[in-house]
Amino acid sequence: METSELIQALPKAEQHIHIVGATRPETLLWLVEESGENTPYRTLGDVKEFFQYSDFTHFISVYSTVSKFITDESQFERITYEMLEDDARCNVRHVEASFSAPDHIRRGLDYGLMLDAINRGIRRARRDFGIGCQLRIDLVRNYGPEEGMEILGWIEGKGDNVVSVDIGGSEEGFPPEPYEPVYKRAKEKGLHLVAHAGEASGPESVWGAVRYLDVERIGHGTSAIRDPKLMDHLRDKEITVEACPVSNVRTNVVPSVRDHPIRTFYDHGISVTVNSDDPSMFGTDMNNEYIQLHEQLGFTVSELFQISLNAVDSSFLPEKEKNDLRKTFISEYDDMVDQPLTLK
Ligand SMILES: [Zn+2]
Repeated sequence: METSELIQALPKAEQHIHIVGATRPETLLWLVEESGENTPYRTLGDVKEFFQYSDFTHFISVYSTVSKFITDESQFERITYEMLEDDARCNVRHVEASFSAPDHIRRGLDYGLMLDAINRGIRRARRDFGIGCQLRIDLVRNYGPEEGMEILGWIEGKGDNVVSVDIGGSEEGFPPEPYEPVYKRAKEKGLHLVAHAGEASGPESVWGAVRYLDVERIGHGTSAIRDPKLMDHLRDKEITVEACPVSNVRTNVVPSVRDHPIRTFYDHGISVTVNSDDPSMFGTDMNNEYIQLHEQLGFTVSELFQISLNAVDSSFLPEKEKNDLRKTFISEYDDMVDQPLTLK
């Protein structure tokens, strides 16, 4: 087996993927047609061009445009099912997907109906591909903590398959600190805590999420590279960094995968995972993320497998399921490397 085939065959878990950001280009064209709107996006070529970004702010504006084409709650079933089909193709077994509920509620869609449609997609994907998926609700920092608190009131936790809260959106201008009471309340409700931080802002944003929101994982965390004390803190407090290397290149957060701090984080002993973030919008998937780490940053197959295990260990699965998944991963890996192949 070639190294790239071996990497593709590694069992994986994904912690950081946005449902809307996983909308396939063909599915976007379907949504556009269903919306009845007159737009310049008619072909896959148009979509491809539309999915090019000058910077993070530009990306956010494209993402918002795609969100606007979702006009019926039931459309989330197809989007979610396809997201999981694509992840399953990369041998991903467990996903924690981010859903930016307020973006759609503000446009008149119903929270409960959207969750029902997403969970229908999840159940179908589990049946067809054996992949599991839980949800994290992105409160979208642009709308402020009061609205975040309101959304939190609707989350029923286990009842609706939601395991965590998150704040995505525009990091610049919307720091984490004001979300402290919202995160406190989320914790009381038994939800796990994650925040996007250190992607479009400096290390102070990661410090804010760590100190005020008590997060267990940081989405991106890229700028932590500029603060050795922060890297020590993430390692010592066992806060996982959900790295999204290709995403960071596409939005010009880093110039190339070769310049991505994930190698330094890993070598520093931080628990890092690798994730596709918005795979369709960034033209990536989990296999590509792993292969890029191998080719550009010299991650070996066993190091990549360690990243898979990190994603299981820091997942929000119940302890028993986590242990079972860990055992499955290890036995599959042992079978793989027992074969006569050229491991680097
Ligand atoms: Zn993200």
